[in-house]
Amino acid sequence: MPVEVWWSSLAAADRDLIDLLDATERARVESLEGPADRGRSLLGAALLRVAVAAHLGVAPVQVVVDRTCTECGGAHGVPRIVGPGGPWVSVSHSGLLVVVALSPHGPVGVDVQRVSDLPDPRAVRDWVTREAALKAQAAALARRHPAMRLTPVEADAATRDLPPPLHGYAAALTTLGEHDTEQVCRHWPTDATATPRRW
Ligand SMILES: [Zn+2]
Repeated sequence: MPVEVWWSSLAAADRDLIDLLDATERARVESLEGPADRGRSLLGAALLRVAVAAHLGVAPVQVVVDRTCTECGGAHGVPRIVGPGGPWVSVSHSGLLVVVALSPHGPVGVDVQRVSDLPDPRAVRDWVTREAALKAQAAALARRHPAMRLTPVEADAATRDLPPPLHGYAAALTTLGEHDTEQVCRHWPTDATATPRRW
């Protein structure tokens, strides 16, 4: 089964998506001040549910997401999917873009960054590469994966550039212990089907 990368843009952050979210996710969205922050939070939580629901063959509201922080027990940790067959997931948003990565195989981390938001735009590739790797490690830690105590090299981490759907962004994807897998890229809600490619 391929690693799936789902892209969406802030234009898709319809307020009706709030109906897909659980109480924790709604509270998070409603706690945010700016409309763009609220939209990114709403769309990230909704896109995560849409992607996992498509993977599991259930409705988005049936997806159970646990965000318990491994440090303090608060509800702001990396998301993990509860229940049989639940894939490894990672969510990132920046500027107008939201991205969700989903792997049935092992810990995954994704990061997207609008270049103009960084103090040094030339550092953007290093930035997204580092963030994606850290998020894969955090996912391993949150689910007590054997890779959780290893360095990226020990954990056999593979980090790749992802082509974002808009200019002016950079993105990267890290998988742990993963080789020669297919990657499927989808654009939600416009693109229901996509062709797998090997990477
Ligand atoms: Zn915490």
